[in-house]
Amino acid sequence: MTTHREPVDSVLETVGETPLVRVAAAPDEVPVYAKAESFNPGASVKDRIGKYMLERMIERGDVSPGGTVIEPTAGNTGIGFAVAAGQLGVDAVFVVPERFSVEKQQLMDALGADVINTPTEHGMDGAIERAHELADELDDAVVPQQFANPLNVEAHYETTAPEIYEALDGEVGAVVAGCGTAGTLMGLAEYAREQHPDTYVAAVEPEGSLYGTVLGEDGTEEEYKIEGIGTHDPTTNELFDPDLVDAVVDVADRAAQDELKRLAREEGQLVASSAGAASVAARRVARDIRDGEIDAPYDTVATIFPDSSERYLSKGIYRSFEEWEG
Ligand code: PMP
Repeated sequence: MTTHREPVDSVLETVGETPLVRVAAAPDEVPVYAKAESFNPGASVKDRIGKYMLERMIERGDVSPGGTVIEPTAGNTGIGFAVAAGQLGVDAVFVVPERFSVEKQQLMDALGADVINTPTEHGMDGAIERAHELADELDDAVVPQQFANPLNVEAHYETTAPEIYEALDGEVGAVVAGCGTAGTLMGLAEYAREQHPDTYVAAVEPEGSLYGTVLGEDGTEEEYKIEGIGTHDPTTNELFDPDLVDAVVDVADRAAQDELKRLAREEGQLVASSAGAASVAARRVARDIRDGEIDAPYDTVATIFPDSSERYLSKGIYRSFEEWEG
């Protein structure tokens, strides 16, 4: 943990302790605060799990320095693990479906990791299968499996959540976060419910994603452009616990892009589409608390801005909706 005031020996010591920044457009009566995760060394929230999970897995003997970590990942997780693996002396291999942004794959490569692409049409399942095949071929290899590994949730329970609570003196009425693996939201939710059992918890997903169906909502599967959150098949996720979630907020691609553009123009925040979606949802929850439609123990909402828009410039994130490739 760093105060950012003292010299540190390794970039790993700069993971976490990110700023918590007020979203100016939220209602005055119920402020929204967003954790700006692009301040991490690999510039996303996933640096937290890269460091936390790999350190725990080495301690437990799941992998040793000199061994290999292999993860199917849409990108940010690969960068997070690559930063940690490089410093902890572990080789890193990532299996990435082709559709994900080239910036992320170049960064994994720059950090010394090997990147293997699988066909877009095989989805994450194809990437997961390939990762396990590769691990079976090696002696000392581990597949962290961020979609199923409780250490993913624990990383956020141990770091992201207490940082937020400390910054807000424990007065958090609602936590709102996008769900990809759901590690971030589940870590926040577990911690939040221990602090106050009535803390309102909202998951955020793109329209067309199916997390809402786990809570019994209707949902139609569709493609979406928002990157990093959502699922086409909730049964592949072992972390999302509906008992810890009050609502799943669906955000349209267009609303998320409008919001990420507004955040840049009006608030100086260079954040990507999952942050745009989180901001839309968090502001909605804040309005509902203000209007008495949601009961929350405090008039404050915390959310997460997972990464930076710079990582998606090649996909036209700031261009027109039609030109944004997603
Ligand atoms: N946003 C982005 C850009 C991401 O890469 C991820 C990770 N898939 C998330 C949000 C969601 O985080 P989590 O996997 O913890 O649900």
